[in-house]
Amino acid sequence: MSKGQPSVLLHLFLPRVIDTRRSTLEDPRFGGVEAGGTKVVCATGDASGSVRERTRIKTTTPEETLRAVVDFFEDRPLEAVGVGSFGPVDDNPDSPTYGFITNTPKNGWQHTDVRGPIQEALGVPVAFDLDVNAAALGEHHGGAGRDVDAFVYLTVGTGVGGSFMQSGRPLRGLLHPEIGHLRLPRASGDDFAGHCPFHGDCLEGLAAGPAIEARWGRSPADLPDDHPAWEVEAHYLGIAVANLACTLAPERVILGGGVMHRRQLFPMIRRVVRERLGGYLDHPRFTEHLDEFVTPAALGDENGVRGALAMARQAAQYDC
Ligand code: ZN
Repeated sequence: MSKGQPSVLLHLFLPRVIDTRRSTLEDPRFGGVEAGGTKVVCATGDASGSVRERTRIKTTTPEETLRAVVDFFEDRPLEAVGVGSFGPVDDNPDSPTYGFITNTPKNGWQHTDVRGPIQEALGVPVAFDLDVNAAALGEHHGGAGRDVDAFVYLTVGTGVGGSFMQSGRPLRGLLHPEIGHLRLPRASGDDFAGHCPFHGDCLEGLAAGPAIEARWGRSPADLPDDHPAWEVEAHYLGIAVANLACTLAPERVILGGGVMHRRQLFPMIRRVVRERLGGYLDHPRFTEHLDEFVTPAALGDENGVRGALAMARQAAQYDC
């Protein structure tokens, strides 16, 4: 062997490159998707439920958005994916259109197959549900619902949605519940027509973020804590919670979503709930301990993607 020439034999003793993406017990192995009307959050998580990586994608056309979702997951070793989507959706696994967004008012997304393209591209089981059911599942696993069996999760943001969870499963009937479209008695003197394209003054039409903005001419984020808007908001949310208490007798009603970042609403809502129930429901949680009955979401805006990851673990029959 001449001097200065690298030895080919040396290469035989070099360690082989190890594929660091290969799944091990410590590696991320589940994918979670929280598909919203303005953005989609994709994350990977491990078996403990911890989030490892995440990205945010702008919601544009279905083709472009779902392509970006697949691109994020494509080179990652996953066992299953969970998708929580804005709705309404077909959440019935026996239906031919399971995994579709159905009659949404969002342009271009009506009757769109969300689950199919992801499952086809990634080749792993893909669980699918409504976004609010995913968020409720997130709260069940590591949030404000972890110490109770039956609870309602209500989100108040660009819309109002709700889920009733019992033993870690959302209530399902012919369709998923549409708690946001309950009709409620009006606050005295309130003549706002409402903002729901279907019903005008349903709960969502009176209390979602866009309804607050339309009623007061200012974004909810710009309204001070002592603005009369919050009394009106607490009136409608308090009546909705009281109605849910009478209908389902949940152990807790958890309130999340952007509007509920205004924490001054919680004591106001509890006051309305107490007044509306009038002492009739005979349990200390409805009479003395309303602070344990009406609580904020513990995972904040994280609960959707955490729930989607839990759906993936269920789909892989890993735990839950
Ligand atoms: Zn409505």
